[in-house]
Amino acid sequence: MSDFAAEFAAAGAWIDRYLSEARDYPVLSKVLPGEIASRLPAEAPERAEPFEALIADFQSVILPGITHWNSPRFFAYFATSAAPIGITAEALAAALDVKAMLWRTSPAATELEEVVMRWLARLIGLPDTFTGIIYDTASIGGFTALAAARESLGLEIRERGMAARDLPALRVYITGETHSHIEKACIALGLGRENVVRIETDAELRMRPDALIKRIDADIAAGMRPMAIAATVGTTSTTARDPVEAIAAIARERKIWLHVDAAYAGAAAIMPEFRSILAGVEHADSVVVNPHKWLFVPMDCSALFVRDPEMLRRAFSIVPEHVLQHHGASSGTNFMEYGLQLGRRFRALKLWFVLRYYGAEGLREHLRRHIALAQEFASWVEAEPGWEILAPHPFSVVCFRYSPSGFDEDAAEKLNARILDDVNATGKVFLSHTKIRGRYALRLAIGNIATTHDDVALAWRLLRERAAD
Ligand code: PLP
Repeated sequence: MSDFAAEFAAAGAWIDRYLSEARDYPVLSKVLPGEIASRLPAEAPERAEPFEALIADFQSVILPGITHWNSPRFFAYFATSAAPIGITAEALAAALDVKAMLWRTSPAATELEEVVMRWLARLIGLPDTFTGIIYDTASIGGFTALAAARESLGLEIRERGMAARDLPALRVYITGETHSHIEKACIALGLGRENVVRIETDAELRMRPDALIKRIDADIAAGMRPMAIAATVGTTSTTARDPVEAIAAIARERKIWLHVDAAYAGAAAIMPEFRSILAGVEHADSVVVNPHKWLFVPMDCSALFVRDPEMLRRAFSIVPEHVLQHHGASSGTNFMEYGLQLGRRFRALKLWFVLRYYGAEGLREHLRRHIALAQEFASWVEAEPGWEILAPHPFSVVCFRYSPSGFDEDAAEKLNARILDDVNATGKVFLSHTKIRGRYALRLAIGNIATTHDDVALAWRLLRERAAD
């Protein structure tokens, strides 16, 4: 056996043990800032070190500073899962060390990406008119889509830039619930934060189409140029769904790019009973769904679907000479032309493995189980005196709080923040919080493939116990 085979087998055995014992680790790391760095040498080693030393330090130095995202008792943010088969695929991709930038730098990486993106599009009910490309994150997918939106305006910004020119203000419409990456993209694209317009939401935190039309028309009347609307299916805070059909009609009528951020909830559309959550998305210009959020693919794997991939090429394609030499006359897709990155990881492999290993049916079963667990948790909260649900919970996230009578908003916030800290300090579970129209809310998100009823029940027991303290 080669050294590599023995070391890899040892790492494999460690991962296997880790996955079976993951719920026993303190979910939220308890180290203090600087603690891990202080345990590491200031210089890189001059001499080679044995594998055993690396693994030993991985366990003794690194693990205490890990917050266990892959724990079935991780209920914070959007809970995610690196399924074992996805971990295996990552190792295989690392072994190949492909840079999937040109078709010929690995035809299989490019073509597999095209095929699995088609599979995913069909699973969530997107028409074949969409083309899918994998990026690392929804943030980069969203940025790339907005860069294409800017290019689609025909203002020659790619060639002439935006400075020292007589250009109208380019406006992007979001809500107060939209994920911050859209605003970051607008900063990076030189639009200016002032041109990111927050449209009012309704009682369920969904973008109001009537307010959107009013704002767009007022902006046009003021000489501004609406560039894009970003609608969300499954907002980060409460998983609200903007009315995409109505928004798409407005976007089409006024020829404005529509980007749909379905990073988390888009996965739910693989279930026929949830297909309707993407109604209207067929009219969008771009859509993001993150398999690394709720489809058990290890970080990073974010799918951007676009109606016109040519617009991405128009925004980004530059083929340098040193690449061109190797480019030859290949007629395959060169993904480096569709975004910022040149070298690209072989991310399609892990998505392919996960989709095949579980099958669509297997994935649907896990998602249904998560949703059922979240609904059951919500029913416990609803039934418990002094506790309340703070937002609709159609997916696997529940926003709630403890609000015994006699507590004003301020006191309720302090109380719930204290409960959250105490629960998380147990190390047994990890939840996060949000604010809903200024009100502090606890938030339980279910998304790990191994989360059980007992795990969710434990979270509820701890919450009630700490509330009673
Ligand atoms: N969009 C939504 C709705 C999100 O909730 C998040 C993150 O949680 C993102 C986008 C950003 O995702 P990523 O980390 O892939 O950039």
